[in-house]
Amino acid sequence: METTDTTALAEKFYICTAAAHKINIGAVVLNNAGEIWFWNRWLEEKSGLPAGTAVGKMFLELFPELNNSRLASAINAALKYGLTSLLSQSLNKAPLPLFENPSNRKERLQQAIHVTSIESQNGEHFCLIQVNDISLAVKKERLLREQAEKLRGLAYIDGLTGIPNRRRMDEYLADEFRRAARSNEPISVIMADIDHFKQYNDGYGHQAGDFCLQRIANAIKAALRRPADLVARYGGEEFAIVLPDTPMDGAAALADDIRKHVENLSITHETSEVTGCVTLSLGVSSTLPNSRLSEGALLSQADSALYLAKLKGRNRVVIYREHPQV
Ligand code: GH3
Ligand code: MG
Ligand code: MG
Repeated sequence: METTDTTALAEKFYICTAAAHKINIGAVVLNNAGEIWFWNRWLEEKSGLPAGTAVGKMFLELFPELNNSRLASAINAALKYGLTSLLSQSLNKAPLPLFENPSNRKERLQQAIHVTSIESQNGEHFCLIQVNDISLAVKKERLLREQAEKLRGLAYIDGLTGIPNRRRMDEYLADEFRRAARSNEPISVIMADIDHFKQYNDGYGHQAGDFCLQRIANAIKAALRRPADLVARYGGEEFAIVLPDTPMDGAAALADDIRKHVENLSITHETSEVTGCVTLSLGVSSTLPNSRLSEGALLSQADSALYLAKLKGRNRVVIYREHPQV
């Protein structure tokens, strides 16, 4: 009877051990002194250390780099006080030297580690360390984050010209407006609109019109000098330019540079009464620090100045003044 019991027990032990070897995560059991009692096959494969080498060694002597680590404290808490811990993956990315293929030890597996206390029948604390390979999940998450960033970026770009769109400009202007107020700096905006562009489209076709818009966007971009200057496609054939830390005279000079850049592209526009080439009209407005003007009002002022530039004959720059004379 006793022999059968012992055989049954041995069989139970054998099956349970075989199961612990076959599970698809790393499993280590430490005795109360921190010595490795069990080291499963998954860990053999991912560490390159056979159980014959690991079992019987002190865990922290086998991995001295873990001394004073979060994992060492978790093991200590489990063995001494019977506490259980889950090591946060964001803080402890890859505590153990585990690899997809241990003969190529380039990149450690990303690990989620559970340290669980096991109480023996005589009340001693043992410890089970479970290691999950979460490299794939981390990679997927990184990919999703990158894609989300890319989409966010695309949502701010005008599809035709590749420059920022109106949404981006509105946010940028709001940010720069606040910054200008904090740092006591002026800020200027330019509104620019292609002259007689409807006639251009009618005469040369929509595709030529699109190409013209792309060239003008690039010409404006090329005329800007500072990294903080931003040009956006504000509407169909209208562009807005934000110039942080730029007073009126600087903005007016830049507007005229932009106008010349576009004129110098010499894009033929036979039906334009202006010069026979594609030209821009531009309106400029500026605000000084501590003025109570809102960013919306600054844009409207630039737009009124642009309207005057059209009235005055196009291909010119008009600066916004409180009481303009036509
Ligand atoms: P003005 O000198 O007074 O600005 O005259 P305009 O003809 O440029 O102005 P209007 O507002 O009458 O017409 C703008 C034209 O711009 C209408 C449309 O044919 C053209 N346009 C707007 N967006 C696009 C675009 O994305 N592609 C092309 N090809 N043309 C566009
Ligand atoms: Mg327009
Ligand atoms: Mg126009």
